[in-house]
Amino acid sequence: MKIHILRAGYCTAPEHIAIQGGAWRHIHFPAMFALLEHPRFGAMLFDTGYSYRFFDETRAFPNRLYRWMTPVTLREQDLAINQLSTFNLQPRDISHIFISHFHADHIAALADFDRARFVHLPHAYEHIRFARGLEAVSKAYLPDLLPGDFDECSASVDLSKPRALPPEYAPFTIGYDLLGDESLIAVELPGHATGQMGIFARGENDQTFFFVADAAWLKRAVVQNLPPHKIANLLFADGQAYRETLSNLHSYHLNHPNVHLVPSHCEETISALSSRSV
Ligand SMILES: [Zn+2]
Repeated sequence: MKIHILRAGYCTAPEHIAIQGGAWRHIHFPAMFALLEHPRFGAMLFDTGYSYRFFDETRAFPNRLYRWMTPVTLREQDLAINQLSTFNLQPRDISHIFISHFHADHIAALADFDRARFVHLPHAYEHIRFARGLEAVSKAYLPDLLPGDFDECSASVDLSKPRALPPEYAPFTIGYDLLGDESLIAVELPGHATGQMGIFARGENDQTFFFVADAAWLKRAVVQNLPPHKIANLLFADGQAYRETLSNLHSYHLNHPNVHLVPSHCEETISALSSRSV
């Protein structure tokens, strides 16, 4: 499977919120998405990054709070659909989109892909499905970002078919074989958002990618096992679970320094892995 690390827009926030001991300056948090070119299933995406719908949906209160918290920059050429055209792909060529979680910066472009099957952990969706207004925005969820036919187009991961993972995945012991060929193994990464899904993806030349979404905002946080500022707990579904997940990522990374562990918003990691210069 060919794997391309891309980004669609970025927001800015103070580094010291993202990691304990971080600087007071604002840094860029790119909204990463990945293009996965599978020999049998064709082109697929992991998340989508921002789209202009984010601005439409955050024009009025209470959603405007979201824009204030994370000011977003997005250029026309950054849109997922425009970047895919450089790979000679049309939106209808995307067969699956794997949704790590339903925060706006991960799902804003779903509606551009009308032939894709949306794959997610069931409780991630159930947690936000009926949330509206202030309740929704407090979950970093903007309901109108989801396509109207989302329910018909989505396929939640079947939790009744867990897979015991071999020891090389330790400390992760349970996963879900998303396509049935072991090319994509999902694991739950609880804490940041309910039902957050991380994915191990097998690339070419024996390279493994581990997409960890927002389980850590910076790779440095995983390497040093350093959580964000305590105030960030207000944003998380479960602060205690977040710490446990971060510790698990830390020990996994110590055992597998050659696996490309990719936090969705880590500029350093995404720049290093990006197949295009920004
Ligand atoms: Zn998030």
